[in-house]
Amino acid sequence: MQVLSVTPEIFPLIKTGGLADVTGALPVALAAKGVTMRTLIPGFPMVMDAFNKKKSVYKYPLLQGGKASVHSVQLAGLDLFVLDAPHLFDRPGGPYGNAAGADWPDNWRRFAALSQAGADIAGGAISGYMPDIVHAHDWQSAMTLAYMRYGKAVGTPSMMTVHNLAFQGQFGAGIFGELGLPTAAMALDGVEYYGGVGFLKAGLQAAWAITTVSPTYAQEIRSPEFGMGLDGLINMRSSDLYGIVNGIDTAIWNPETDKHLVSNYTAASLKARAPNRAAVEGRFGLDRDGSPIVCVVSRLTWQKGMDILATAVDGIVATGARLAILGSGDAGLEGALLAAAARHRGRIGVVVGYDEGLSHVMQGGCDAIVIPSRFEPCGLTQLYGLRYGCVPVVARTGGLADTIIDANEAAIAAGVATGFQFAPSDGGALLHAIRRLAEAHASPAIFEAIQRQGMKTDLSWDRSADKYVELYRLLLSKRVA
Ligand code: ADP
Repeated sequence: MQVLSVTPEIFPLIKTGGLADVTGALPVALAAKGVTMRTLIPGFPMVMDAFNKKKSVYKYPLLQGGKASVHSVQLAGLDLFVLDAPHLFDRPGGPYGNAAGADWPDNWRRFAALSQAGADIAGGAISGYMPDIVHAHDWQSAMTLAYMRYGKAVGTPSMMTVHNLAFQGQFGAGIFGELGLPTAAMALDGVEYYGGVGFLKAGLQAAWAITTVSPTYAQEIRSPEFGMGLDGLINMRSSDLYGIVNGIDTAIWNPETDKHLVSNYTAASLKARAPNRAAVEGRFGLDRDGSPIVCVVSRLTWQKGMDILATAVDGIVATGARLAILGSGDAGLEGALLAAAARHRGRIGVVVGYDEGLSHVMQGGCDAIVIPSRFEPCGLTQLYGLRYGCVPVVARTGGLADTIIDANEAAIAAGVATGFQFAPSDGGALLHAIRRLAEAHASPAIFEAIQRQGMKTDLSWDRSADKYVELYRLLLSKRVA
């Protein structure tokens, strides 16, 4: 089975979020199951700089305002098609905006071009290559499915994966004439969205199947609260909607071998977490007592519920727990958390910034990680927490609800508990969950059983890849011979 994946990001070449982890891990996990996934990505500078032999397999005299070509390369163990279009992608800054963080005004053109190339490849543009299925990710590649639908590859099964519905790629109606789609596409069942053009909307409309990164989020986005304006369409397509939880890279995230840790350990040697805990105490200026250390590793944003955390900090300190917070983002939230740390010296420590190594030490040394997200398509930090014996305390939403088994009495008795859930996402419920955590922490036998159970959870990509393969097969069975 040949699958063409179209994505703006792929780990380890270009990453701004979890989307890149998924698109980077899936080809590897699928290869073991007899599925060959090749991935089309934009030729951003860091991608073009990573390979030398620039022999193109397809040329465009004109693609969205300039010359372009497609290169077939192998990089970092991945089979890639790279869309080299310097007028669109050879720019400093990030993949979507300049160094100051402002979106490029022609993002619609840049990702329409990527999508156009995806549909052309799906239609047989590259000799010797014809994918059986096309798999698009997020709004940046969603238009691939629209170009397919109105072009040659109309009979090729397609999948649209939504990693975060908050990003939709909505543009004014004025761009439609430049997309190169037939006039009929500017319709309610095409790319038209509230009078403009909606890239993600177009993909959701055209996809043979829609997936998102957890079963609970797949249900949630059918409601106005989580659907962000697309719930009507998603409901209409609900019989083709699936949720598949992400895996994690269990080689990188392995407490037994992790080089970032001060001390490596396994579920059988939890006491060896102590030096990591001491490192966290040192780095965050925390008192050295036996109370639980609850950590936060997060973007400091409204989505992540960091304002909820900020309102609950005094109550959390009152439970006797300590807080170690690593994050960056909203300046107001950074300020609020730094003020809390100043108020509670020795009990709350805050490091503002992005620090991969420190995030590993925190997972390897803290007792718990708190994730009070308002919505969470999948979430990764709770999965790392499970693997590291850093017990997740999570809002019961999206992927958090699907991956953590709440330590209620029955679950503790059955030996299946892996963390603590709370709902709704507010300060009172969060505080209640922290109290339950502190109580469990006071009984080492119970707490260690929760840690070990989490560490046993299968978080590999293998399991998720099986589910994607199952869906690919279902789509192939719907193809008209
Ligand atoms: P999202 O992609 O919505 O930010 P996820 O939980 O899916 O949330 O993934 C966040 C990733 O970023 C995790 O790998 C987490 O460890 C990492 N991360 C977030 N903030 C920081 C930080 N300040 N320092 C280091 N790593 C961070």
